[in-house]
Amino acid sequence: MNTDTIVAIATAASDSGIGIVRISGDTAIKMADKIYHSKNGKKHLRDVNSHTIHYGFIYDKEELIDEVMVVVMKAPNTYTREDIVEIDCHGGVLVMHRILDILLRAGCRLAQPGEFTKRAFLNGRIDLSKAEAVMDIIHSKSEFALKASVRQLHGVVSDQVKKLRADILYEIAFIESALDDPEHVSLEGYCDKLQNKIKEIQKILKRLLDSCDSGKMVRDGINTVIVGKPNAGKSSLLNLLVGEERAIVTHIAGTTRDALEESIKVHGIGFNIIDTAGVRDTEDEVEKIGVAKTKDYAQNADLILYVVDASRALDENDRNIIDLIADKKIIVLLNKMDLDMVICEEDILRAMSKEMCQNSIQSQDETKKGSNTEDEIIQQQKDKIRIIRTSAKENVGIDAFEQAVKEMFFGGEIAVNDEIYITNQRHKEALCEAYESIQMVTRSLMDHMPEDFYSIDLTNAYIALGKILGEEVGDDVVEEIFGKFCVGK
Ligand code: GDP
Repeated sequence: MNTDTIVAIATAASDSGIGIVRISGDTAIKMADKIYHSKNGKKHLRDVNSHTIHYGFIYDKEELIDEVMVVVMKAPNTYTREDIVEIDCHGGVLVMHRILDILLRAGCRLAQPGEFTKRAFLNGRIDLSKAEAVMDIIHSKSEFALKASVRQLHGVVSDQVKKLRADILYEIAFIESALDDPEHVSLEGYCDKLQNKIKEIQKILKRLLDSCDSGKMVRDGINTVIVGKPNAGKSSLLNLLVGEERAIVTHIAGTTRDALEESIKVHGIGFNIIDTAGVRDTEDEVEKIGVAKTKDYAQNADLILYVVDASRALDENDRNIIDLIADKKIIVLLNKMDLDMVICEEDILRAMSKEMCQNSIQSQDETKKGSNTEDEIIQQQKDKIRIIRTSAKENVGIDAFEQAVKEMFFGGEIAVNDEIYITNQRHKEALCEAYESIQMVTRSLMDHMPEDFYSIDLTNAYIALGKILGEEVGDDVVEEIFGKFCVGK
């Protein structure tokens, strides 16, 4: 492992109030001392107490560079568990680079992306899931994403995984001791006990895996496609949603996608909204919806927002839209409720069910053919579809919309305070692996296989879970994870 002294600008590379140049390593304090001058010139950083801050100046030989505050933190109670010095200088790009430059000349090495956090990991201060949480905190796009990441950094994921591993390890040790020393450790009645333990472990793994979809949406936002006929009120509703918290995060005119993509937040929930408005500017109504593209977007969406003008009857274009979006999670916004409404919830459900019925009848699957009556389909639809009356004009229905999203995606509540959300794809894969191995144990138990079979699969589950913490992962994985960090973190 590298123990050389690294340096990087830890704050943004733009002009700002304060800039921080961060140094970590065995000679961090010595390096800082080379360029630091106290007010009276008599104080040296090597003599100061740990975790203290000092006023002074940075010099490049004889030349005064900046007036600074210097924080000295001695190992091991530091971010990297090495000696760290942070120089709080003025936040000008030039001045930060001058200080960086002097330190590089003094013998520091420029840190790689994420190298400070990587050292924290390699020196055992944090496990890999916590290191990943650090990056997620920096990139959090919504309130809930931030909460989930902070909780991950605090250890909720690690603690749960460690507990599972400890339970699994206990069983492995028991089986191995019994096999080694059958005279003193008996396996009599053990299978029943193991079965109960396995059920418990399976339940927890399942719960964690079930949280992955919500977790992904908590972290990255809900991929939403907004559809509807022209003039239904899509733009008005979108503006209303955006206006709720005046929180347009990005606004990218998608040149490659021919659609508008906006990231918005509604009461802390992130949405990545693709407004298909951009793909329907032709004469033909159906083409206006940009059939193929909308279908494509809809296919990859977590949620469809279907905006219907409730003051106009449904027509062929609505049926075409419904055809494109059937099978997805849909929130229908029955807009313009301030006008005389000529369609209601039942009409929408009927129209949707009809489309589903036809799809079902056209289906090649013999078992499905004719088996779903319209009423049955309406019933099924009710679980996947929420219909909400809105008026973009009078700002009505946004709260109901928010509640519907919570019910559809987060089991009614986004209780990041109590729940563990798995937001990381790498963790999900490791959990899947562990779950499969645990299932193998169940199968072996049912088939009355010899005990060493259980032990092998339990060990595989133990190893898989270890990947989340960063044990049992190769250097390449570590490199890849920290390579995504910013320099200075
Ligand atoms: P889009 O083509 O689907 O994006 O529809 P717009 O948002 O541009 O709205 C079309 C027209 O309907 C505009 O004149 C809006 O002011 C009007 N509109 C939108 N929502 C409502 C509503 O809830 N009530 C009423 N009365 N008019 C609305």
